[in-house]
Amino acid sequence: MTRDPHWSDWRWQMRHRVHDEATLREYVTPTDDELAAIEATRDIFRWNITPYYASLMDPDDPDCPVRRQVVPRMSEMAPDIVGVVDPLDEVGHSPVKNLIHNYRDRVAFCVTAECAIYCRYCLRKRMVGDADFMMRKDELGEALDYLAAHPEIRDVLLTGGDPLVFNEANLSWLLERLRAIPHIEVIRLGSRLPVTLPYRITDDLCNLLRAHHPVWLNTHFNHPKELTPEAAAACAKLAEAGVPVGNQTVLMRGINDDLATMKALVEGLVAMRVWPYYLYQAQLIGGTAHFRTSIETGMALMRGLRGHTSGFAVPSYVLDTPFGKVPLTMDYVRGRAGDHVVLESTRGDLWAEPNPLGDETPPLILPEVDLPPGIATLPTGAPTFVPVAEGYTETA
Ligand code: SF4
Repeated sequence: MTRDPHWSDWRWQMRHRVHDEATLREYVTPTDDELAAIEATRDIFRWNITPYYASLMDPDDPDCPVRRQVVPRMSEMAPDIVGVVDPLDEVGHSPVKNLIHNYRDRVAFCVTAECAIYCRYCLRKRMVGDADFMMRKDELGEALDYLAAHPEIRDVLLTGGDPLVFNEANLSWLLERLRAIPHIEVIRLGSRLPVTLPYRITDDLCNLLRAHHPVWLNTHFNHPKELTPEAAAACAKLAEAGVPVGNQTVLMRGINDDLATMKALVEGLVAMRVWPYYLYQAQLIGGTAHFRTSIETGMALMRGLRGHTSGFAVPSYVLDTPFGKVPLTMDYVRGRAGDHVVLESTRGDLWAEPNPLGDETPPLILPEVDLPPGIATLPTGAPTFVPVAEGYTETA
């Protein structure tokens, strides 16, 4: 395929994202399942792929780990064990629109609902790609007022959506206002663009970030195929601008839940000066069952990494819950109670994560425990989908 002369212009990439069958055919031979899923999910979750990320997909293998992350599958429509759209109760923790204040001293500020691509397993399916969750300037201002009025907040994560879809002028406006709040020590960016649109990491952007230090950035590589020379160059630019880059991987069945893949990923990240920060257990979002794997599989992967590669290449394996992140180590994992894994959060709360084994043979056996009566958990057996806008209303 001949590349457009503007290929490495990030704005060109945004304007030419893949979101129809004809354009998809320029990159892959779609399966009947993929074509059916593109239609079936149209009103449920937006579909977009940057030409750069599309070019990493295997044209002939629908199980390609890049392709599976971004091309819809009919599995998204399968009945699921959960019907929630907001498993972390982010809406309940939002005192103003799109500002999640769950931890005392830090917040996640969803400054936009737009992303360059829409990952099929996204935690924020309920809002990303949905115009209702875009932030007008006055709404950003309300959130900034909240931050200014809360001196206990020292760390602000700009997320979304993806904050780096903002142009420099808008980002500069936002960073300047954040830096005018004296108690905000650290600004973090949560962005997948180093992975999905590395051309976004321009000299202008790096100069802007450099002017507002300390700025950290966490990105989201899931598979070694994503560790391209373009992505490495983007991460190097950030490092050279003094922005520490961390990575948050989501553990996904058939994508990265085997030791060879995970080891290649974390070692490749370290070679790119990116710190493998978290390995997340996939969240329980309706329509993502085909991505989920057992907690025991994740714990066994961690055993395979710890002591077998550089210590700083070993991420923390965690599950996010409405009570905050729980490290998935035996210190916090009490055991298995049938289809649930019983956990204790760092705050001392008990949480039962629905996590059926199915026909899987776990590589590590958890002790059997009883499900304590009244333990907090998510409802199971509910319908698969709640349309995005309706989901917000329902959980608000
Ligand atoms: S880039 Fe992040 S926020 Fe956007 S769809 Fe992917 S996982 Fe979700």
